[in-house]
Amino acid sequence: MWQFSPPTRFGTKYRDAIVSARNVHLYTHANVCEVEANEGLSAVDGLRVRTLDGNEYRVKARSYVLACCSIQNARLLLASNRRANTGLGNGNDLVGRFFMEHFEMPCGELVLEKPRSTKMKMYLLDYGTTKARGEFSLSPRVQEQYGILNGTASLDPGALGEPVKSTFEFIPPSMLKAIDEWNKGGRHGPIPLIASLPPSALSPPAGPPRIFHVMTRQEQAPNPNSRVTLSTEKDAMGMPRANLDWQFTELDKRSMRTYYKILGQEMGRTEVGRVQLRDWLLSDDRTWPSFLSGGWHHMGTTRMAADPKQGVVDANCRVHGLGNLYVAGSAVYPTAGPANPTLTLVALSLRLSDHLRTKLA
Ligand SMILES: Cc1cc2nc3c(=O)[nH]c(=O)nc-3n(C[C@H](O)[C@H](O)[C@H](O)COP(=O)(O)OP(=O)(O)OC[C@H]3O[C@@H](n4cnc5c(N)ncnc54)[C@H](O)[C@@H]3O)c2cc1C
Repeated sequence: MWQFSPPTRFGTKYRDAIVSARNVHLYTHANVCEVEANEGLSAVDGLRVRTLDGNEYRVKARSYVLACCSIQNARLLLASNRRANTGLGNGNDLVGRFFMEHFEMPCGELVLEKPRSTKMKMYLLDYGTTKARGEFSLSPRVQEQYGILNGTASLDPGALGEPVKSTFEFIPPSMLKAIDEWNKGGRHGPIPLIASLPPSALSPPAGPPRIFHVMTRQEQAPNPNSRVTLSTEKDAMGMPRANLDWQFTELDKRSMRTYYKILGQEMGRTEVGRVQLRDWLLSDDRTWPSFLSGGWHHMGTTRMAADPKQGVVDANCRVHGLGNLYVAGSAVYPTAGPANPTLTLVALSLRLSDHLRTKLA
């Protein structure tokens, strides 16, 4: 299930709380250009900060947390190379590697044998004040059986061969109204994926849809060759820009194709419908289409592992070898999973703040 949050403007919602907090100092327009390590490379001594006006100053603290997201965290560590030639925390050449995204790819069409308006509630639902949507996924047992990655498929009503549109354009007003009433009836609990609404409430005026675009959302396999490195080009602060080389494996594509093979077989076996795949998915596992897209979910680059030879940060998100440098964010994910990344990275950040509070006390 997906549940969509109403938009939250961070500045509007949290500005007063942050500015008036006695234990928080907020500096804006402050670009960290270097994380400065001590001579023994065992801890961080300070941060070098620059503004666009050319001012430069240093920030000192007992502990430091990088929270600049996956590409910038890696860039900052790699560019902090005055004492450590290959960058901070990069003794094992792992900083910047294992960059991951979530594939978001139109993969084909599901054509139903006959309209099933009372049961097809896989597309958008109103849920309280927010929107929700169901997606197909394979059970962990089947994923394991086929040795494939984790992914889901969403359904958007449409026509064969047409360009894929956004889900939001297809919600019949009658359906939204019916679900709103369902919710107002106090039946909040689990989201009513297959609720017993009258068929008339679910049918769009032109008749219930029979054809759905299927859109994949899938994790990619952790891949050391998918990586962030430093460019020779510099930005206005004199800092090297980031280069991103987003790379895939054959498993990434094979997982997508296998997923739809299983979905198609099950749709056929149960006489629900047929799945038709897009041409790009049927070609070999090394060829990718030009319209490749992701979910703007950047993960990896400082992955977590107990062994410094396998990852950049330890279980407490501390950079191996540096006593007081931490990373907060999806950069620490060793694998991506198919779910959106932010709730998990917030949970990890809260866990890190608990750890730091205990340590500093
Ligand atoms: C269009 C879009 C849609 C998305 N939708 C979803 C969604 O539906 N669900 C979901 O879970 N996730 C979604 N994401 C991903 C989500 O935005 C990220 O997972 C999340 O913002 C990461 O939080 P963060 O605090 O780690 O990094 P960020 O939010 O990227 O914050 C990093 C901050 O560090 C600052 N910074 C960077 N470098 C420096 C430096 N050198 N010095 C000082 N400051 C620096 C940046 O300015 C920025 O403010 C979406 C992303 C995009 C772009």
